[in-house]
Amino acid sequence: MLVIVLKKFRSAFTNLRFSKIYFREILVISFLFVILISFLFNITLQNLLLLFLLVLIFDLIILITIGFKRKNEIDEIKSVIKSIRKNQITNVNDIKLSDSLSDIEGNFKAMLKRTQDDIANMEKLAQARSDFLGYVSHELRTPIFTIQGYLETLLNGAINDHKVNKAFLEKAFKHSENLNSLLNDLIDISMIESGQMSMSFRYFNLSEFLDNIIIEHKQYAEGKNNELFISEFNNNLEVYGDKEKLKQVFNNLLSNAIKYTNSGNIKIIVEEKQKTVQFKIKDTGIGIKYDEIDKIFHRFFRTTDVRDKSIPGTGLGLAIVKHIIEAHNSKIDVKSKLGIGTEFSFELKK
Ligand code: ADP
Repeated sequence: MLVIVLKKFRSAFTNLRFSKIYFREILVISFLFVILISFLFNITLQNLLLLFLLVLIFDLIILITIGFKRKNEIDEIKSVIKSIRKNQITNVNDIKLSDSLSDIEGNFKAMLKRTQDDIANMEKLAQARSDFLGYVSHELRTPIFTIQGYLETLLNGAINDHKVNKAFLEKAFKHSENLNSLLNDLIDISMIESGQMSMSFRYFNLSEFLDNIIIEHKQYAEGKNNELFISEFNNNLEVYGDKEKLKQVFNNLLSNAIKYTNSGNIKIIVEEKQKTVQFKIKDTGIGIKYDEIDKIFHRFFRTTDVRDKSIPGTGLGLAIVKHIIEAHNSKIDVKSKLGIGTEFSFELKK
């Protein structure tokens, strides 16, 4: 019996601790109430003390009740926090609190969802970084090993073999050029993706700009027996953009068109629209398989055909082109048919 009473007493005392933040207010109100009653009714001091005692008992009951409710609510919140910390709750809908705590329940759900999204993003980033490092080391290893191979063969005696020494040196040189262009592309893509690509927009004359680009690619195109054309357009036409970055776009698209076309033709089509100028870079080359078209703008992606034929390349050129065109608030489209040819198109503000 005594044990039960003691237990009840302890639990009442614990509940009281949870309502201690209200002690002062309730005491002040009770005190004021007793004073008011003493003014309104002519009560003896003895009755007044009795009334004060009754009010205090009443306060105690109220405080124990409030403490009991608060303790239960705090216990509920603590238990949810503990389950989240111990990863026992993975689904936001498993967070359940009583109706009086529905606001807090909503906040917990939002917090857990946000944390889960952040973790998922961090995992994705870590995966992307390790994929990137994997690709880079693989792509760097190929030209380095090839150059080493040629140099080693030359050092082991082939240097004096006039039938092969020049060819080996030329091949080593070619691979060192590939290595250089891979490094340049890597620098570009990392600048772009880390948000360090600074743009410098202005109007410039299109005719002069494209003439220079054509001159730079003419020899490469002729070397592969390709004809390079440019459509007629207004000589005074100007477009708005970053001239240097757009030069890189045309260089990448044209060198791809020439690289993936043999004895065909490559055409740059310029079409003036109301507020923009549309560009098409069209070739009659090897084309791209339907199910690979969506992937060609991903960094390091190269079509199976191109890999099988060991056509050199970094798989970064189109990723760079896409970023640059998007930095001009435009987008790049591609149409291609295997064995027929490919057409890239985009618009720039005029
Ligand atoms: P790469 O250095 O390999 O050319 P890009 O990023 O410029 O890298 O292009 C990605 C891939 O898209 C190429 O490897 C090739 O498979 C395909 N591709 C790009 N342009 C053409 C094109 N004009 N004709 C056919 N395939 C192309």
